[in-house]
Amino acid sequence: MSLFFGLLSSVFSQDVITRADTLRGSITPERAWWDLNYYHLSVEVFPESQSIKGTNLVRYQVKNPAQTLQIDLQEPLTITSVKQDGLELSFRREGAAHFFSLQKEQKQGEFEELEIQYGGKPKIAVRPPWDGGITWQKDSNGKHFIANSNQGIGSSIWWPTKDHPADEVDSLLISVTVPKDLMDVSNGRLRKVDDHGETKTYHWFVANPINDYGVNISIGDYVHFSEEYQGEKGPLTMDYYVLRENLEKAKKQFEDAPRMMKAFEHWFGPYPFYEDGFKLVEAPYLGMEHQSSVTYGNGYQNGYRGTDLSGTGWGMKFDFIIIHESGHEWFANNITYRDVADMWIHESFTNYSESLFLEYFYGKEAGQEYVRGTRARIQNDRPIIGTYGVNRRGSGDMYYKGGNMLNTLRGIIQDDEKWRAILRGLNQEFYHQTVSTRQVENFISQQAGIDLKPFFDQYLRETSIPTLEYYFSKDNTLHYRWMNCIPSFDMPVDVMIGDKKIRLHPSTDWQEQTGLKGQVLEINPNFYVSLLRMN
Ligand SMILES: [Zn+2]
Repeated sequence: MSLFFGLLSSVFSQDVITRADTLRGSITPERAWWDLNYYHLSVEVFPESQSIKGTNLVRYQVKNPAQTLQIDLQEPLTITSVKQDGLELSFRREGAAHFFSLQKEQKQGEFEELEIQYGGKPKIAVRPPWDGGITWQKDSNGKHFIANSNQGIGSSIWWPTKDHPADEVDSLLISVTVPKDLMDVSNGRLRKVDDHGETKTYHWFVANPINDYGVNISIGDYVHFSEEYQGEKGPLTMDYYVLRENLEKAKKQFEDAPRMMKAFEHWFGPYPFYEDGFKLVEAPYLGMEHQSSVTYGNGYQNGYRGTDLSGTGWGMKFDFIIIHESGHEWFANNITYRDVADMWIHESFTNYSESLFLEYFYGKEAGQEYVRGTRARIQNDRPIIGTYGVNRRGSGDMYYKGGNMLNTLRGIIQDDEKWRAILRGLNQEFYHQTVSTRQVENFISQQAGIDLKPFFDQYLRETSIPTLEYYFSKDNTLHYRWMNCIPSFDMPVDVMIGDKKIRLHPSTDWQEQTGLKGQVLEINPNFYVSLLRMN
């Protein structure tokens, strides 16, 4: 998702960790023993009463047999029945967590199924997509316009699920029943539509692993257009669903979608979900990276709601929501965090992808200016990595500081083709997987041939910005060191002295370099660091 200024910091900085946070954010014993295989989520949506009713068939494989299984569903929704092999099960509810007592003996390696019935009036989204739930709106023709958004708050806000990111379901069928004059667009491909007279059921199938928060319903009086894109893995269907009133605007604005695909396949490798196609779907909120079904509500204008986040002018060259949310197909949907504390894996790379889009079409310096321009938004308030095991993301700095961190890393590596190979390599190495920060760090270190642990520790786990402290002694000797950083910080940095470009390898101890002409030192501005001259 995209950052709502100030909100993340204020909401997450001073809260108290509760038992509910642990039940939601950790791999509890009742989650650990089984592996998700398949969901068939079937839900009917009633716009007039703003309620829903449905079933979720959960297929899982037993890894380490146990007899209690956790599924989450948030109030005020209720589970009305849960069955295994046709037999009704009893369960205990603790907040959103439901602990089912399984009667059938669970055997290692076996596949088992649960059928869960549920319903009620789901939480209404207050400020979607940031404070999520269901949005019930109407378009200008008076037709219902409905969607979920639940990153952060959790998909269990509207359906019963294993609401933890570590275990992705391998495939998903989502069947959504809506009044006959509306259409549902969900993830993956439309298999069929059942006509029941007053209602219709849309069956969407996702053939790839999908993260929980990406599962979505978008319901409206949609019109459809499409194109076939010739991509790295062959033809890719790109489908667009927009409100009837916006068709002409969308046909123009969505020209950014194939441009996005061209740039990101270049930088990150093939689009990760050819089997499921790519869709842009209009939504009654700003936007979200729903896998293979990116939702769009940026008002058919360039920039972020018409403004340039970088202040450089480059941010007006593209539709922020099309580029940013689609960038998440690689970093969020293909490579997914195992814990929301590592949300930078989604947001830092995707923030950085905006500059790579610019670079692809307007040249390297355009992208660099954009990245530098976003620095004004960095807070350095809290570390980028959040708290593990309790559903807590880190600072909103995961966006702009994260993007600047990655751009700095590119400067360290000093080889643009290698850098691109690393970005593509990440998407290959961790294809359709959930990962931890350490896995990402180690992969980049190995590929770059540099021990980047101090670098990542500094930028992801601290708030201070390294300062290059220096002075020239009378014989033109340069004295320099890193300060305002962890003791092991040893990042190389490119500087200009006079008209000479040199690479320094500072540590936190003073070092010196002789034989220089000039007394003025400038840092390559693409390194996100500070500079302090001592006298
Ligand atoms: Zn995002």
